[in-house]
Amino acid sequence: MYQIKSTALLKQVMREYFQSFEGRKVAWCTSVGPAELLRAFGFEVYFPENHGALIGATRMAERFIPAATKAGFSGHVCSYTTSDIGAFLSGDSPLRKHYGMEEVPRPDLIVYNTNQCREVEDWFHFYARHFKCPIAGIHPPRHLHEVGSEELRLVAAQFEQLIPVCEQASGVRFDIDRYRETLRLSQEATGLWQQVLRTAIASPPPLSFFDGVIHMGPIVVLRGTQQAVDYYQALLAELSAHVAEGKGILKKEQSRIFWDGMPIWGKIRMLSDLFLQNNSAVVASTYCNSWIFEDFDEQHPFESAALAYTRIFINLSEDAKMKMLKKWIGEFRIDGVIFHDSKTCFHNSNSRFGMHLRLKEETGIPVLVVEGDLCDLRFFSEGQSVTKIETFLEQIESRMYAH
Ligand code: SF4
Repeated sequence: MYQIKSTALLKQVMREYFQSFEGRKVAWCTSVGPAELLRAFGFEVYFPENHGALIGATRMAERFIPAATKAGFSGHVCSYTTSDIGAFLSGDSPLRKHYGMEEVPRPDLIVYNTNQCREVEDWFHFYARHFKCPIAGIHPPRHLHEVGSEELRLVAAQFEQLIPVCEQASGVRFDIDRYRETLRLSQEATGLWQQVLRTAIASPPPLSFFDGVIHMGPIVVLRGTQQAVDYYQALLAELSAHVAEGKGILKKEQSRIFWDGMPIWGKIRMLSDLFLQNNSAVVASTYCNSWIFEDFDEQHPFESAALAYTRIFINLSEDAKMKMLKKWIGEFRIDGVIFHDSKTCFHNSNSRFGMHLRLKEETGIPVLVVEGDLCDLRFFSEGQSVTKIETFLEQIESRMYAH
């Protein structure tokens, strides 16, 4: 049976990460926040979104969300937010069982970037109030066609304004060389991660989207460290060897699918099996590609970080997103695109203003919208979704034979 052996190393890397908070200054950060800058001050960086994903993957969200709802958070806002806050209010966490942590690490500083959504601002302020902890944010212009020099100056200045806040919370003076070094490490890791994802251009691919969402752990939580670089070097070497030997997730690849939007964390295994049973490979996604930051440049640490983090897919206009989707469709030889309309993540559900139909019209590629959610499985109908996906894959197959 085909296996990615680096998974054992991944578990070790993630375990070591979660054990690294003891006795360290801790900064909380959004998943596409300025992690490199925080690491330059010696903070260990903790990511509540990663915790939200873990709650979703372990199917504990439904247990925790009611506590957040009781505290005034609507059940229709981001279920990372409500499951994470609900877990905190319930005094429980999957970190206990999986990583032996009693509780989430206490923050010395909380930093967010609204490049992905405003929800993170409200979510993180809840904790800043609770812990009476300093909090700072980056608020870039949103939904851009492209990032111009004016926007760049504005965001780079906001990055620089974080320096005194970080100095005060860490007790460490800013050292630009240290920042350049974390940015360089982050750039190296993100480049390796990109190469990892691009191994799926091969037929059969050595990993799917469903493997990608597991192996992306270090690029989210360990950006700016040597551990992330080492991990992706090992993973890339293994996957490249599989490609060279013609080994992959499928023996007979009948269709290649692109996944747009959030993962459905509690159904990763079920969906992975479903596509494999139908000889279909989900080879690329907007989600996994969101941690590729090609613009990092240690020579221009503030401007390049501002550019990289403002140009992310989720922060672009619909037209700019369409361009990126078309590029990936070509590169990965995509036969069909699935748009996950995630009930509680408006920002990462791209079919709500008709993008899926425009994409179909302009590329001729079939599209399907699947309704669900990142963590809250009450918004996901498994029977209905399985039928929809199987019918979609059959249509793609018959379309191929007709050509
Ligand atoms: S982008 Fe979506 S899933 Fe992520 S924090 Fe914002 S609302 Fe939640």
